[in-house]
Amino acid sequence: MVEPKQLDALLHPTFSEEELKKAHVIGEGLAASPGAGAGKIYFESSKVIAAKKAGEEAVLVRLETSPEDIEGMNSSEGVLTIRGGMTSHAAVVARGMGICCVSGVGDFTLNEVEKTLKTKDGLILHEGDYISLDGTTGKVYEGKLNKVAATISGVFETFMSWADEARTLDIRTNADTPKDAKQAKAFGAQGIGLCRTEHMFFEKERIFNFRKMICATSVEEREKALELILPYQRADFEGLFEAMTPYPVIIRYLDPPLHEFLPKTEAEIKELANDLGKTVEELQNVIASLKEFNPMMGHRGCRLAITYPEIAKMQTRAVIEAAINVTKKGIMVEPEIMIPLVGEVNELKYVKNIVQEVADELIKNSGLDIKYKVGTMIEIPRAALLADEMAKEAEFFSFGTNDLTQMTFGFSRDDAGKFLNAYYAKQIFESDPFSRIDEHGVGLLMEMAASKARTVRPDISLGICGEHGGDPSSIAFCHKLRFNYVSCSPYRVPIARLAAAQAAIKEKLAK
Ligand code: PEP
Ligand code: MG
Repeated sequence: MVEPKQLDALLHPTFSEEELKKAHVIGEGLAASPGAGAGKIYFESSKVIAAKKAGEEAVLVRLETSPEDIEGMNSSEGVLTIRGGMTSHAAVVARGMGICCVSGVGDFTLNEVEKTLKTKDGLILHEGDYISLDGTTGKVYEGKLNKVAATISGVFETFMSWADEARTLDIRTNADTPKDAKQAKAFGAQGIGLCRTEHMFFEKERIFNFRKMICATSVEEREKALELILPYQRADFEGLFEAMTPYPVIIRYLDPPLHEFLPKTEAEIKELANDLGKTVEELQNVIASLKEFNPMMGHRGCRLAITYPEIAKMQTRAVIEAAINVTKKGIMVEPEIMIPLVGEVNELKYVKNIVQEVADELIKNSGLDIKYKVGTMIEIPRAALLADEMAKEAEFFSFGTNDLTQMTFGFSRDDAGKFLNAYYAKQIFESDPFSRIDEHGVGLLMEMAASKARTVRPDISLGICGEHGGDPSSIAFCHKLRFNYVSCSPYRVPIARLAAAQAAIKEKLAK
C-alpha cells in the first residue's frame, strides 16, 4: 500500500509543510531530480563553486548544463535549467548525484549578459538573490525556504527487507564512480546496470585529454591521447569492481554526443590548440567539422568504435587490466562489456571482435581465469525488430529506453519538454513517455525483442537502464516481461526495490 515514490521523502530533504504554506511559487518545470534545495542563484558553475567555498548555499541556474558544469552542479544545493526534459544532461546527472533539479522551466527568461532571471510574472531576479527548488514537484519558490533533512532509521531497513522477500526482479544501479556505486550498494543495488564511460571525463584534466582524443586528426594523434586516458579508465573500473563485488558490473563503451564535449570558449580552444601543436584556426576547423545537425543521431555509440577502433581497444584494455588487478587482490569480478546504439548486427560483430581479440590476449598473458561477457543495448528500433539476430552475438541486452523512446516517437529527448505540455493539456498524452514507458508502442518493441531474443538464447539476461528503470509503473512492466533486472540511479534503488515487490505481489494476487 505504500506509494514507492513516497520513499523519496525519506531519502532526500524536503521543505516543511509550514514553509510551503507561506511560500510563493514563481515558476514550474519538470520534477527532474527529487529533493529540496535553496540558495543564492548563480548563472555560472565557477561562481557556484566559489560560493560554496565561501560557505554560501548556491543554486546553479543555466539554460542547459554540459559536462563543464559537473563541479558546479556538485557544489550546488540544486540545479534549475530553462531548457531540457527528463533525460537531459542536467536531469540525468543530478539524479545520479542525488541533488535536486527542476528542468525545462520554459516560462523563465535567462539573460546571461545582464545576469538576470525573469519569471513569467515579470519578477526579475539578480545573481545572489535566493530561490528554492522542489525537485519532487517541479515547483520554484521565491526566497529561501527551510528544509527538513532526510532520516532513515532501522524501520526503513526492515520494511525494505519485506520488499526484497517478495520481488523477483534484481535491482541494479546506473553508476559512473565508485562513490555512486557504494551509495547504491548501501541502498541495496545488486550490481551496476550502466556505467556511462563518457561520464568519467568531467574533471578538468580528464576533459582536456578527452578533447584531445576527439579532436585528433590522425590515428597516431588519437592513440597518443588514448594512452593518457587509459590510466584513468583502468583505475575507475578497478574502483567500480571493488565497490560492487560480488555483483556484476556493466561497462558501457563510449557513447558521447560529441557536441557535449567539444571545447567552447576561446581560452579552451587556444589551450587545446597549443597542446596539439595546431593553430587556433586549424583547431576551429576541426571543431566545425565535428559539429552535427542532429548530434543525437550522429557520430556516437558504436559508430565511434567503428570509425576509430583504437577507442574500443583502449577501453577493453582498461576493463580487462582492471579485472586482472582486482582479481590479483582476491576480489571476484566478471565484467560485462556493453556496446551502445547498435542497429545492425554487423556493427555488434565488428566491435565484439575487437573486444575479444584484445581481452583474450590480455587474459591469456595474465594466466588468470577471468570471464567476461559482451552484450548490447537495445535502443534503436531496428535492433529491437531484429533482436533474434542481435541475440546470436549478444550475451545480454539492456534496453536503453531513453534513446528507444526518442527514436520510436521521433521526439528529441532534449527538446520534447517544449511541446509535451500541450499534449497533456489536449489529452493526447497522459504522461511523459521519457519518464514512464509507453507500453503501447515502445513497450511493444521491448516485448517483441525479448521474445525474439529468447528463441535464440533462452537464458539471455534482459534488463533496462534508461531513466524508466526507476519508475514504478515501468518497473511493473519489466516484471511482466520477465526481465532479469532494472537499473536506476542510486537514490531510486529503494523505490525500485519496493516497486518490483509490489509488481510481484499484484501478480500473485491476480492469480
Ligand atoms: C538510454 O538511451 O536509455 C541510455 C541508458 O543511454 P544514454 O541515456 O546514455 O543515451
Ligand atoms: Mg542511449
